[in-house]
Amino acid sequence: MDTRDIALQQSAPVTLVPRYSAFEPMTGNGHRFLVTGDGLWLEARRPWMYLRTPLVRQRNVPMPYGVVTRELSLAFGKIPRRLVFEFFRYAAERCPDECVGWIVWNERTGDMRLERLEELSTGCSHVRYTRPTLDEGEHLVVDLHSHGRLSAFFSPDDDSDDRGEFKIAGVVGNCDKACCSTAFRLCANGLFLPLAFGAEDTKGGDDGYTSTLS
Ligand SMILES: [Zn+2]
Repeated sequence: MDTRDIALQQSAPVTLVPRYSAFEPMTGNGHRFLVTGDGLWLEARRPWMYLRTPLVRQRNVPMPYGVVTRELSLAFGKIPRRLVFEFFRYAAERCPDECVGWIVWNERTGDMRLERLEELSTGCSHVRYTRPTLDEGEHLVVDLHSHGRLSAFFSPDDDSDDRGEFKIAGVVGNCDKACCSTAFRLCANGLFLPLAFGAEDTKGGDDGYTSTLS
């Protein structure tokens, strides 16, 4: 086989899920495809995340494999809403222009912080920025941007920007109001999974929220 195919298939292998033996989740970082009794699933691991979610489901043609369940777990448990609130206050100062920020997680200490990014240009409907260099052991976990006076939603440009990465993306909108709107999703290499985030979470406080697949 062409060495390029060998490299590609090793980077994203396919695993047949056993029907009678225990399923063993992947232990290393990366992603793979699971062929199950009900279709095709995506499994991915990063230092900060483990994900198992269906891509295609079918039961018309019997497939002699086992089944798995949905799972999303974050190493840091919850996104600290104090950091989302910190970004909201920054976005309110910058309104009506858009702005960007990263929530960064340190795998050695467990600390999380908001990194403000160097902007190349910004306006009411766009922002271009330089990706920061993180310290060893630090990971981008939430990629935040604001929508100025507009509501929070993911635009076709956001979809294009978020394709091809594993991260949580968040939008903060209505930044001219006392209480902003928000939208969050897990980006999984082109798949977008909405994450719950309550409106009350932008009012500050120390608690976070539990990320859930919806
Ligand atoms: Zn946007």
